[in-house]
Amino acid sequence: MKVLVIGGGAREHALCRSLSQDPAVTELHCAPGNAGIAQVATVHPVDQLDGAAVAALARLLTADLVVVGPEAPLVAGVADAVRATGIPVFGPSGQAAQLEGSKAFAKDVMAGANVPTARSYVCTTVAEAAEALDAFGAPYVVKDDGLAAGKGVVVTSDRAEALAHAASCERVVIEEYLDGPEVSLFAITDGVTVLPLQPAQDFKRALDGDEGPNTGGMGAYSPLPWAPEGLVEEVLETVLQPTVDELRRRGTPFSGLLYAGLALTSRGTRVIEFNARFGDPETQVVLARLRTPLAGVLHASATGTLELLEPLRWDDGAAVTVVIASEGYPADPRTGDPIEGLAEAEAADGTAYVLHAGTRLDGTGQVLSAGGRVLSVTATGADLAEARGRAYDALASIRLKGGQHRTDIALKAAG
Ligand code: AMP
Repeated sequence: MKVLVIGGGAREHALCRSLSQDPAVTELHCAPGNAGIAQVATVHPVDQLDGAAVAALARLLTADLVVVGPEAPLVAGVADAVRATGIPVFGPSGQAAQLEGSKAFAKDVMAGANVPTARSYVCTTVAEAAEALDAFGAPYVVKDDGLAAGKGVVVTSDRAEALAHAASCERVVIEEYLDGPEVSLFAITDGVTVLPLQPAQDFKRALDGDEGPNTGGMGAYSPLPWAPEGLVEEVLETVLQPTVDELRRRGTPFSGLLYAGLALTSRGTRVIEFNARFGDPETQVVLARLRTPLAGVLHASATGTLELLEPLRWDDGAAVTVVIASEGYPADPRTGDPIEGLAEAEAADGTAYVLHAGTRLDGTGQVLSAGGRVLSVTATGADLAEARGRAYDALASIRLKGGQHRTDIALKAAG
């Protein structure tokens, strides 16, 4: 199978790493990729938002499967452009990706499918927003309706701050605050059959102790030893399958990766958000534990044959990933600094490795930082404590000027 992956973050590096280890994959390509992906795939400088260019590349390579990683190309309809050429593509249509692209659309689908979520109002004026804020009271949750790379949500007890965020967005969703631990549960679907993966937890705030601003994600781990038994089955039954059924019923069938961001509240499990693609950094730990070769699973989603797939096989152990971000992230990330110690960080036995996010090579082959989140240092182990220890050991040998990371990823869960 010749596979083309679209995107250039640590999620795509994790996808490429798994695909490169799948014996069914004979050729692996990525556009645009990054310095780490270039070590396992042939990278192509193609604009990932340009559907025609991506489709042309897929045809040129005679790809058997195209995997679209990030949300922006999905919402821009890149999967549709590839699908129109007849090449199987892993990822939803632009219309179905509105499940992530518009919070208001997602709320409407959830209402139609009877999926438990926070009560909410969609507001387009400051006066409406003020009314909604007062209806729910503090803490306030204000979400930009559109895509905002994980940074469009403000959760605060400061009413003025909440209102200011609402005023800065064209359309916002204001909703009740959901208390309780968060879980990310991914499912692979072909629009009919839904195959849940293993749950993970990510860390959205920039600083230890869940302080500081929201980010794209600073680390993740899997499994969740504290999660209630039967959680995956419950979410499949009450959230994932009804959502996939509802989207099919509306004439916008969803195939690809359905990501449910959940809050386990005292009143039950609630959906915080849906995403239309693999989450970053949770993908890094979920794929680290997946034993079934990846290409066949993604291809079955792309070709509507998931029902025929054998049950997925998982490693019983644990995985932890810790993100190294550049100085100033998320507000004003500094880029262009050399990264040292990458080779030393990798364990010879494959239990610790470095996935690249915002990196690039300069003319001399030196790896430079090129984005807000720079690296995702990932490790596996018999349990979370071992995986966590290995991830932080690996991280200790990496040097990036001003680089920042959280020191408490998976700390509580590792016990
Ligand atoms: P989202 O982009 O919708 O995932 O929101 C980003 C983060 O904001 C989530 O991971 C939560 O930590 C927080 N958040 C979003 N919605 C709520 C809510 N209704 N109640 C509490 N926290 C929320």
